[in-house]
Order: sequence, then structure tokens, then C-alpha cells
Amino acid sequence: AAARLRESGLLRTQGLIGSKWAESYDGKSIKVHNPATGGVIASVPCMGAKETSDAISSAHEAFYTWSKLTSSERSKCLRKWYDLLISHKEDLGLLITLEQGKPLKEALGEVAYGASFIEFYSEEARRVYGDIIPPTLGDRRLLVLKQPVGVVGAITPWNFPLAMITRKVGPALACGCTVVIKPSELTPLTALATAELALQAGIPPGVINVVMGNASDIGDTLLASPQVRKITFTGSTAVGKKLMAGAAGTVKKVSLELGGNAPCIVFDDAELDVAVRGCLAAKFRNSGQTCVCANRILVQEGIYEKFAHVFVNAVEKLQVGNGLVDGVAQGPLINQAAVEKVESLIQDAISKGAKVTLGGKKHNLGMTFFEPTVLTDVNNNMRISREEAFGPVAPLLRFKTEEEAIKIANDTNAGLAAYVFTTNISCSWRVMEALEYGLVGVNEGVISTEVAPFGGVKQSGLGREGSKYGMDEYLEVFQPLLLQA
Ligand code: ADP
Repeated sequence: AAARLRESGLLRTQGLIGSKWAESYDGKSIKVHNPATGGVIASVPCMGAKETSDAISSAHEAFYTWSKLTSSERSKCLRKWYDLLISHKEDLGLLITLEQGKPLKEALGEVAYGASFIEFYSEEARRVYGDIIPPTLGDRRLLVLKQPVGVVGAITPWNFPLAMITRKVGPALACGCTVVIKPSELTPLTALATAELALQAGIPPGVINVVMGNASDIGDTLLASPQVRKITFTGSTAVGKKLMAGAAGTVKKVSLELGGNAPCIVFDDAELDVAVRGCLAAKFRNSGQTCVCANRILVQEGIYEKFAHVFVNAVEKLQVGNGLVDGVAQGPLINQAAVEKVESLIQDAISKGAKVTLGGKKHNLGMTFFEPTVLTDVNNNMRISREEAFGPVAPLLRFKTEEEAIKIANDTNAGLAAYVFTTNISCSWRVMEALEYGLVGVNEGVISTEVAPFGGVKQSGLGREGSKYGMDEYLEVFQPLLLQA
């Protein structure tokens, strides 16, 4: 597989600073592993402050030309990039499965989803409108122009190695910003292949830079630089808080997509098949490793036993294995720390009265494979209900009334995605509006799309990605006042 990628020119193993593919200045490197086999796929440079400073300089220099292009010129570059992402979807999908572990089918889905942001923002690039405001004095004219904020630092996680980059870089470039990307050190290869295709698409050198290595050195350099005007981050709440605090020093704009604690609420009147299918998709996508994954499944008492039975049967059928193998639905977890976290949450739940109805332990395939797990008799005080499990464990909680379900669902500091299953349209509106979440799916377990705003409330983040609202994160409102002679 690695040979095929090398042949296609997409196996890039150096950082990108301006027009140069670069090693780290002190020669240090990091190995990238395949979580399904433990094998080393490639080594990439372990960069730090110096390389990041140079990447910022190159982005800063490129900003003056890129932001001055017409929106139509930027739009065409983005469209070309989209076309290349799609024409290389097989190689990109393979790369995602190799370094991240998700099943190839899901990886190909991520390529389509990730590329869709570049297509959408190639179109949106041409729709950055301003305003003309009626003045308070007859000889004045007031205009509002929207201008790109400047250099953007984009820090991304490993769970969507491609889509979390395009979701940020698409709107940034459409607005006229330039970027320094710091992908996760666990999945840098997809980021580098994506950047290679951007260069092939004619996006000028310096507009996209990629550095990786020492995360806190790179992060601190981005935060300290007055030239970086915006930080956009997807990852853990803890790191997001650090970045927000660090951005205060130079008063940068900040967007954060942080952890969730998604409730799936299944009411007595839900269609069983729809609810089971929806919860399965919301829970087990990417082996539970997404920030919108169902973290708690709240089931009303009248349907609880029936739901648990059908749900367990469905989960039991999920095939675990190497994502390159046909039919596999659950790949490995990203690393041992992820496995240990899941194990400790399960242990805590058992010690407080939960029952393991299915799975519950490491899979006999070894590595970081974990059995798809269903816990019953879970309550909202167990750690598994308070923390993001980020693994293939579905905890089932029982509730009696609509009021109680809303109370349990909102009893968390997170507020990203929530799901509701009911055939009662009044109930769906009431619950949807009462949920303190940025995204709500009704009778649907997959809710992300490039055309709709994605983002959280409370400690799940700030700002929105995707849709026309995603553009605002990279624009400054600029208001010149004309005195008419
Ligand atoms: P996850 O648990 O999903 O790995 P993290 O928040 O640890 O979440 O990682 C998300 C991204 O943030 C990764 O690219 C990681 O390298 C980066 N990161 C981690 N710590 C820091 C830091 N102190 N400064 C900047 N980036 C960081």
C-alpha cells in the first residue's frame, strides 16, 4: 500500500514551509504508525519553534498577494483543489485508513466529506458581500467591507485527518487568508498529501504551510506571533482552553471545536428500527472516536428492554478488524491511552452498578482493538456519563418523563451534538429547543454536512464551521467613512 502511495506522489514525508518541503532544522523525526498493525508507515520531521516562525513568515508574505487576488481567481484555485482531492480519493482514503485506522469505506466517506468543504467554499468565495449604511449626516457615506483577518494558525486532531483540515482551510482561503496548519502528529501524512494536492492545484506557495512535531512549541509560537491573527482548533477541551488563554496575549480571533457528551434520547413512541439505526451510526462511527458520537443513550422506560435487545443484536454484528479488510465496520482505537481510558470508564460504571450486556474488554485481535460494548443500567453520575468515552462503548440510561430526559441531557458542561428519536412532532420541537446543544438530529444519527453550521455551546466551543456562517470566522468587518465633497 505504501508503495502505491509513493508512486502516486502523495506520500509526502516533510513539512511544507513556503515553496519548500522541509526537514526539521535539527534533524529530529517522528514515526507514524498504523494502529491496526503497529507497523511504521513513514517518518516525518519533528519541528518546533524555528520552523513554525518561518512558516508564519511565509504565510504572512503570501497573504499580501493571495488576499489581493479577485474572489473569482481564489475560487478557481479552490475548485481545482477539490477536483484533485476527488480524483485522488482512493489514495487519500487508503492513507486515512493506514494512519488513522477507520474502515476504508468510512475513509472514502471522509474524503468526500472533506473535499465537499473545498467545493462549497470555492463557491462561497465569490459571495463575500459588504453593506452600505444610510448615514446620519447628508454629506457622509458609510460602507462596510469584509476583509480577511490575515494569517491563520489551524491546529487539527487525528480523528478526521483530512476533513478537519479542509473545514478550516477551505473558508480561510476563500476569504483571502493564508494558513499554517499543525496536524496531529498521529496522522500527519493525510495533511501532507492534501497540501501536495493544493500545490498541484495552483494554490501559490506560502498560502498553505504545514508544520508538525512538538505540539506545545508549535502552538506557543503561533500564539505568540502578532502576525497570526486567528487560531482555529479542533481537539480536546483542555487544549482548547489553553489556546484560548494563550491567544489573549496578542488578542487573536479564536474558533474552537472541543469535546462533546452527546445524548441520544429515545422516546417510547420512537420507531424502533429508526432509533436503533440512528444510535448505531451516532455511536459507532470511527469506533466511537468523533466529537459528535453518542456518549449516552437515554431510553424511555416503556421501550427500554425492547430497544436494548434489538440494539445489542445490531452491535453484535459489527465486524472488528483492520480497516482495509472488506466488511470490517470497527477499526482499532488510535492508541493504548484510548484503550485504557475506555477500560477505566467501564470499570467505574461496573463498580457503580452498570451491567455489561455486550463486549466490555479488549478484542482478541490484540493491538488497540476493542469489543463493541453495550452497558445497561447506567446513570448520569458514572464517569462514563460525565466524560467523553471516545470509544466503542454504548451506555444505556433509563428515564421516565420528557422533563427528566432533558434534565439528564443538559446536565453536562459540553453542548455539541444531541439526537432525539420520537414520532411525536410536538415532543421533537419541545426537546430540540430545550437541549443546550449546537446541533440536534431528529430521527437521524448522522448530522454533519458542509452546507450547515457545525459547532458547540457551553464548553464544547466557539464559532461555527461549514455553511455561509463558516466564512465569518475568517473575516473582519471594516468600515470606511467617506466625506462626500
Ligand atoms: P486529542 O485528544 O483529540 O488528541 P488534543 O487536544 O490533544 O486532542 O489534540 C488536538 C491537536 O492539538 C493535535 O494536533 C495536538 O498535537 C494539538 N495539541 C496538543 N497540545 C497542544 C498545545 N499545548 N498547543 C498546541 N497544540 C496542541
